[in-house]
Amino acid sequence: MKAAPICAAHRSPWMTGELELFREQARRFVEKEVLPHDPRWQKQHHVDREIWDKAGRAGLLLPDVPEAYGGGGGNFAHTAVFTEELGLAGIWSFNNAVHLICAHYILNHGTEEQKRRFLPRLASGELVGAIAMTEPGAGSDLQAIRTRALRDGEDYVLNGSKIFITNGYLADLVVVVAKTDPSQRAKGISLLLVETRESPGFRAGHPLDKIGQHGQDTCELFFENVRVPAANLIGGGEGRGFFQLMADLPYERMLVAISSLAMIERALDLTVRYTRERMAFGKPLLEQQNSRFKLAEVRTTAAVGRSFLDQCVQRMMEGTLDAAAASMAKWWLSERACEAIDECLQLFGGYGYMAEFPIARMYTDARVLRIFAGANEIMKELIARTL
Ligand SMILES: Cc1cc2nc3c(=O)[nH]c(=O)nc-3n(C[C@H](O)[C@H](O)[C@H](O)COP(=O)(O)OP(=O)(O)OC[C@H]3O[C@@H](n4cnc5c(N)ncnc54)[C@H](O)[C@@H]3O)c2cc1C
Repeated sequence: MKAAPICAAHRSPWMTGELELFREQARRFVEKEVLPHDPRWQKQHHVDREIWDKAGRAGLLLPDVPEAYGGGGGNFAHTAVFTEELGLAGIWSFNNAVHLICAHYILNHGTEEQKRRFLPRLASGELVGAIAMTEPGAGSDLQAIRTRALRDGEDYVLNGSKIFITNGYLADLVVVVAKTDPSQRAKGISLLLVETRESPGFRAGHPLDKIGQHGQDTCELFFENVRVPAANLIGGGEGRGFFQLMADLPYERMLVAISSLAMIERALDLTVRYTRERMAFGKPLLEQQNSRFKLAEVRTTAAVGRSFLDQCVQRMMEGTLDAAAASMAKWWLSERACEAIDECLQLFGGYGYMAEFPIARMYTDARVLRIFAGANEIMKELIARTL
């Protein structure tokens, strides 16, 4: 399924001719290299490793990282465009969001040596990135994590476990959130770069069995006396991790917001097509007043959401997007996506409940948007703090 034609008439104010070309390239890549393999990836619960190399060669993995570090040299709009194209195609197996997030911790907070050592390899796909914050006993309350990294000579010794880690099965480089001072909450947290292939004591579990996003390798990670060189402490100073996370979480939340809107647009497109064809009581479903009203509501949600999202993308590009606005975009659009997909699924009747229908898969794929990258209740807390 190509980009949603119903909403395609909208041109975001931040779009340029160069970005249109990038969108075309991204769309072709998704059609040729991703979509044909997606059903198989969903069955095996992870993508093929080669897709990362292919996306790296196509310059799609780190579009908003400077060329000096191997990236595409673009800005946040490039990332927004690729994220939209994956969302409009209904793809959740191959997704570079978490890979980008990992790279951005290095770009924004790493030492020059760390940037040169890791970013070009993340850009080419030689390394697959992940970010490991959540633990079995601590998700929303990040300051309560128990994974420890204690200094021993030139290394840190890492012990603990993480859960629900996207890209966990294939990851070569994991930004691990750990306590370098377990006696402290926020001030005891640091971010460490763990090279999984060179780390005895590291183990990734099998991809977890989720209700949706089946092609995405979401895993548990285990660290047992893993020695991490002190040179892999992001930024080089202990205790800065929580503040680094707070600075970069808006980026992650914007990616969820962009995916959410793309899903609303895709659901609308799929459902308009279906209800045009499906006959009931002698006329197409789209001519029944309820179908028209429901789809008019979804169309309105997409238009209103697009307007706010465009504003946020613009502010991301300018570096002025605050944490509260990113939280607003994340919670509002992810809630609207789940509602819109639910309403659309209803118009498919029994077919909407059949796994082979894309709308059914969207229903389960979308649900986690309200939970990950910070649960929506946490988003509202962050917004409420600004009142
Ligand atoms: C598919 C998937 C992929 C993920 N990928 C990653 C990843 O790559 N890296 C990573 O680190 N994590 C990842 N996560 C973890 C995700 O970020 C956490 O699940 C999320 O932050 C919630 O944490 P929790 O599951 O521990 O829920 P809890 O913290 O136990 O919270 C449960 C619920 O309680 C409510 N709640 C919690 N705190 C408050 C509060 N203060 N006020 C009001 N209500 C509250 C919310 O409704 C919340 O959903 C992923 C999760 C999933 C399901």
